[in-house]
Amino acid sequence: MVIWRLPRGGSISSPTWSYCPRCEHRLGGLDLVPVFSFLFLGTKCRYCKAPISWRYLSIELLTGALFALTAGYLWHMNGSGLDAVFFCLFTALLLCVFFIDLEHFVIPDGLSVLGILLGLTHGLLTHSFGDALAGMLGYAAVIYLIGLLSYVYLVAMLNKRKSVGQAAGEYLRENADDWVYVFMSSLAVIIPPLRRTVEARWGEAEPLEGYTSEEIEADEDAGGMGGGDGKLAAAIGANLGLALALGSLGFAIFLGAFAGIIVMIRQRRRLGELIPIPFGPAMAVGALLAFFFGHPLAAWYAHTFWGNIGTGTAISAGPWGL
Ligand SMILES: [Zn+2]
Repeated sequence: MVIWRLPRGGSISSPTWSYCPRCEHRLGGLDLVPVFSFLFLGTKCRYCKAPISWRYLSIELLTGALFALTAGYLWHMNGSGLDAVFFCLFTALLLCVFFIDLEHFVIPDGLSVLGILLGLTHGLLTHSFGDALAGMLGYAAVIYLIGLLSYVYLVAMLNKRKSVGQAAGEYLRENADDWVYVFMSSLAVIIPPLRRTVEARWGEAEPLEGYTSEEIEADEDAGGMGGGDGKLAAAIGANLGLALALGSLGFAIFLGAFAGIIVMIRQRRRLGELIPIPFGPAMAVGALLAFFFGHPLAAWYAHTFWGNIGTGTAISAGPWGL
């Protein structure tokens, strides 16, 4: 539902019911049982017989598999039930980011804001708020630094449209303004009168309302590492903590380069040609890999290269508060 609604300018919370995207008939409880409804309804809408996209089934199955893996992994790591709830929500959020950005080249602000709140709340509840904060600021800073360098390279050095200083200033100003917008419009969800101030300044609704098609087109034209990636980095960092978040960037860069090479070969592009590939999906998968394999990998690394010391500290330093 989130993957369908957000990039189409819809909201997660309105309407509060689910509906068939073709006949818009409101769906009942029996139409909404994950996986089973899809099978029992014969893969068709009960009301207008429109075929239900295979995506619903595959995303429901994927979500279930991720929840089972997350709960199982946390069980193995002696995590608490509270950790399981928070990390299940986090993996579901990453799944939404993965599919929305892959198809629409956009990461809805609402998802990043929810991710940040999720991570910081979990940090507060498990006495690891400092690590959540460090992860949020650290990972976002690295992504914005990469974005800044690539923007300056593109605009000032490759196209020579602006001076280096002008390009850098523009990038920093626009992204700072973007964060003020996201912060103010998130606040406006709690304090409704603020919404008028936000609309007067930026002429937009709150971030949870998703994106309109015009904004998506504008984003595609922009190219390079977008501000959406920086906001997603803040969300991932808040949930994983600094060490795992930076590890997830390593996975993401590897995956992004791999996807880039595949696309280059399939579209017969030349080296050095700019190919628009969204980085969000690589960041989302990187975060999952870091979450599931970060600690075992760190333990293996410490064991292999430093002998037995460090294995215990690598695991207990995580965001689980073990
Ligand atoms: Zn229908």
